[in-house]
Amino acid sequence: MNNCIFCKIANKEVPSEIVYEDDKVLAFKDLDPHAPVHVLIIPKEHIDSIMDINEDNINILGHITTVVKKIAEEYNIDKEGFRLVNNCGKDGGQTVFHLHFHLLGGRAMTWPPG
Ligand code: 5GP
Ligand code: ZN
Repeated sequence: MNNCIFCKIANKEVPSEIVYEDDKVLAFKDLDPHAPVHVLIIPKEHIDSIMDINEDNINILGHITTVVKKIAEEYNIDKEGFRLVNNCGKDGGQTVFHLHFHLLGGRAMTWPPG
C-alpha cells in the first residue's frame, strides 16, 4: 500500500508526533485534534478497515487494546475515562483507509456522535 499516508507514517517517511511504538503498532497525535488528548493507534501492517480483520490478523486488536490502556495511563485519562473510536467505511466517516483507532480524552464527550 505505497500511497497510504498511515503506512508512510509507520515507515517514518512522513513525520508524526509518536507517543508509542513497538514492532506491531504505532500511536501518534492526530494532526487535527478534537480533544486535549487525541491519539491515533494503528497496526504497522496495512489493513484497510475493521472489515478486513480475519482469523490471521485478529490478534492485533487485542494488542491494540493493551496499547490503549498504556497510553490512557500515560496521559492520565484512565480514571476519568476516554472515548475509543473506529470509523469504518464511508458512512462511518472513515477518511484514511488504514485501520486506526482514535483515543480521545481530557474532556467530557457527548452522545450521540454526529
Ligand atoms: P478517520 O476520519 O479516517 O477516522 O480519521 C483520520 C484521522 O487522521 C483524522 O482525524 C485526521 O486528522 C488524521 N490525519 C490525516 N492525515 C494525517 C497525517 O498526515 N498525520 C496525522 N498525525 N494525522 C492525520
Ligand atoms: Zn496503510
